Amino acid sequence: MNLKESFVDILCCPICGKDLVIDDEGNFLICRQCSVKFPIKDGIPILLAEEKIEMKENGT
Ligand SMILES: [Zn+2]
Repeated sequence: MNLKESFVDILCCPICGKDLVIDDEGNFLICRQCSVKFPIKDGIPILLAEEKIEMKENGT
């Protein structure tokens, strides 16, 4: 779906300003710099620092 890709192109992290990547399912935008992700609700990315979800890659 092109829409997804086009808005990802112009979005950046509200915390660090780096580019975001969309996850495989299209439900989150991920900032690898901050190791956080932001939800996409009804097709609208919620790019608020308060909405961020920290990614726990070490499993603790
Ligand atoms: Zn960031």
